[in-house]
Amino acid sequence: PKYVYDFTEGNKDLKDLLGGKGANLAEMTNLGLPVPPGFTITTEACRHYLRHGTVPEGLREEVDAHLAALEQKMGRRLGQPDNPLLVSVRSGAKFSMPGMMETVLNIGLNDESVKGLAAVAGGDAAAERFAWDSYRRLVQMFGKTVLGIDGELFEEALEERKRAKGSDSDLALDAEDFKALVGTFKQIVREHAGREFPTDPREQMDLAIKAVFDSWNADRAVLYRRQERIPADLGTAVNVCTMVFGNLGMDSGTGVAFTRDPATGHQGVYGDYLQNAQGEDVVAGIRNTVPLSELEKIDKRSYDELLAIMAKLENHYRDLCDIEFTIERGKLWMLQTRVGKRTAAAAFRIATQLVDQGLITQDEAVARVTGAQLAQLMFPRFDEKADRQQIAKGMNASPGAAVGKAVFSSEKAVELAGKGEPVILVRRETNPDDLAGMVAAEGILTSRGGKTSHAAVVARGMGKTCVCGAEELDVDVRARRFTAPGGVVVSEGDLISIDGSTGAVYLGRVPVVNSPVVDYFEGKLSAAEGDELVQAVDRIMTWADAKRRLQVRANADTPEDAARARRFGAQGIGLCRTEHMFLGERRQLVENLVLAETDQERQEALDALEPLQRQDFIGLFEAMDGLPVTIRLIDPPLHEFLPDLTELSVRVAVAGDDATPKDRRLLEAVRRLHEQNPMLGLRGVRLGLVIPGLFAMQVRAIAEAAAECRKAGGDPRPEIMIPLVGAVQELEAVREEALGILEQVKQSTGVDVPAMIGTMIELPRAALTAGQIAEAAEFFSFGTNDLTQTTWGFSRDDVESAFFGRYLELGIFGVSPFETLDRDGVGRLIRIAAEEGRRTRPGIKLGICGEHGGDPDSVHFCHEVGLDYVSCSPFRIPVARLEAGRAAV
Ligand code: PEP
Ligand code: MG
Repeated sequence: PKYVYDFTEGNKDLKDLLGGKGANLAEMTNLGLPVPPGFTITTEACRHYLRHGTVPEGLREEVDAHLAALEQKMGRRLGQPDNPLLVSVRSGAKFSMPGMMETVLNIGLNDESVKGLAAVAGGDAAAERFAWDSYRRLVQMFGKTVLGIDGELFEEALEERKRAKGSDSDLALDAEDFKALVGTFKQIVREHAGREFPTDPREQMDLAIKAVFDSWNADRAVLYRRQERIPADLGTAVNVCTMVFGNLGMDSGTGVAFTRDPATGHQGVYGDYLQNAQGEDVVAGIRNTVPLSELEKIDKRSYDELLAIMAKLENHYRDLCDIEFTIERGKLWMLQTRVGKRTAAAAFRIATQLVDQGLITQDEAVARVTGAQLAQLMFPRFDEKADRQQIAKGMNASPGAAVGKAVFSSEKAVELAGKGEPVILVRRETNPDDLAGMVAAEGILTSRGGKTSHAAVVARGMGKTCVCGAEELDVDVRARRFTAPGGVVVSEGDLISIDGSTGAVYLGRVPVVNSPVVDYFEGKLSAAEGDELVQAVDRIMTWADAKRRLQVRANADTPEDAARARRFGAQGIGLCRTEHMFLGERRQLVENLVLAETDQERQEALDALEPLQRQDFIGLFEAMDGLPVTIRLIDPPLHEFLPDLTELSVRVAVAGDDATPKDRRLLEAVRRLHEQNPMLGLRGVRLGLVIPGLFAMQVRAIAEAAAECRKAGGDPRPEIMIPLVGAVQELEAVREEALGILEQVKQSTGVDVPAMIGTMIELPRAALTAGQIAEAAEFFSFGTNDLTQTTWGFSRDDVESAFFGRYLELGIFGVSPFETLDRDGVGRLIRIAAEEGRRTRPGIKLGICGEHGGDPDSVHFCHEVGLDYVSCSPFRIPVARLEAGRAAV
């Protein structure tokens, strides 16, 4: 295979092979944009290296050939002493990964070529300074990223030098300072890497390439991939690119830009620029950048060219792009572009804006937003009317309202979050080492860096609230506190609130309120009254609804929940858990039922429950008038309903002879019914078959409620669902009885309300015998909570806290199977059941009502296997609607 591609050979569709950066550099080259020449080593070479520990055969020769061609094109050799070609070596995976080694710049410099560089740069003091500054950067970056030396050591040496000059800016340092720093840095390398800094340019390049390969498996990269669900075996490409210099003087500089505002989607000039600096300086927030618009005054020609290129890129990619560029003595160079990350709000706005500009279709717009983003927009925000003490204002880098204890290190963030305490990670600036803390925190606050700083970019990617560049704050990480204007001191553990939508930082806890997007879904705010975001959401929801094949229902047990679900767009109830109607004060009635010893006692208990149930169902039918309401007959794991065995034993023992006869009977019954594995015990259909009259009472209540609603002019549509069936015989027995009762009620009320009878598929045996079960079921609803529990053999109430953390760490799965449907195992059972159920009963209605019904990835799976509907909790209905639409486009 071919392992190396010149930038002129690739294109943007080759991300798998060339990584995102390489593919886009090639695309820009093809578009005729000013990209410094270079080449990309493929991800395939990386995968080979990671598998075998050696680079693939032929790679070296290919690199030789491409380097030779590059040297020819540039008219100078890598590291040529009198006029060196310098290159950058940059990682670039298919998906952008801030956790990975990014870049080594200025490869090709050594004690000889640094002089050549100074000479060609002009030979004056400024040129000397530039050359030695470039050299010290190489030793520093090489030492840190290739040789694995703690970057702080270099930073401290640099800081010390600045202090000696009485300044905190690197602009105060001159050529002699940098020359001295090169010596110090080489000494650090010698001491900490056990080798000399390599002076052979080609060795520098080869070591950097290998280091990029190795960085794929760095801890941070592994963590980031897990967080973002990026497959672990993709590998990274390596880009070798001719250096251009932003640090050649004040007519040079480097910057980052977005083709529109990544926080709001508004078109305009968004970005940061830093004069006389090299790439890393901007992102790391070393010096404070100026807004990109200032570039117009600094260098109008480059500015105009940049704006023209940005417009061209946006039209070409038909999306928001972010870019990195450098200006070398008035000449603009493009170093990177990609379709840019954006906030959830911006994603919705941009998608509709691009439709209006005629750049994308409505279907594409639906595909460009996600359910996770929509969920984010439904998060609460700070209450504007609440009292609050603002102590600083930074940049609104990633929206949301976060409240938590201030912490000043990644470790502390992880520690406190692990104990369930919300934290805000406060740093001067973040770097990839802070990733674990950023994941753990509710929000991130930094005192330096702009909207394109590491903190901002990563937070936006994770959907975390972030305020960055709050410069009024004096953050002292060592002392674990920060000082705000007016002498306000916030120490570790103090509560603060940050608003990522405005950039405000508040002392203490600020109360939060609903988002306007929720008000819109609730019908409290019409699309016309809403802001730009609400209107974008409204339009995209309309497009998604028009496209989706899956219906969306709600899991709801109360008329209130049902009504809200309906406002949110539910097309019926997919699961009413009737046992939830027996909690609270009615629990006593269930206890009576379980304790009943004679037929008469049992009948009394049932008679007490029936009118209550009838009322419950009337409420649901009214709230969902004209839409299906699936009522599941009672499925109570008994341990959730009866008193705790230990507690009751103690109570009876303590009371001694004074214990009431009722308590004694209760204890006896609880003992008798005590189960080692209640989830696998007397519940679901089993309970219905064991306690005579229980299911019958519920069916009668449903039928009578429906008859009453019909008589009142309503349109009730009941569906009766039997839980935890494992064999068709169980279902047949219940169905027989239910049909009899429906007939009786029809006779006695004179009203015929048809009610389908179906079953849940919650056990592997049910899935595997679905062909038989469908004989007695008019619909299936996959109860994927229990189906996951019984397929994996994972107790759903225990495992997530017990050991899933470890399992996720080990990569046994990337996400809990209780959260996202396990396609390979549980999903396979669903496919089998759907297929065999349909074979028996071609029109059988199929749905899902486990928690997965509102999970984006699982919704796509349900679409793929051809289910008719998903059912989820009311609040997730908009997400399910959107994802069902996205699955269909
Ligand atoms: C299920 O098992 O997926 C289900 C919906 O039922 P429950 O969660 O009530 O057991
Ligand atoms: Mg269940």
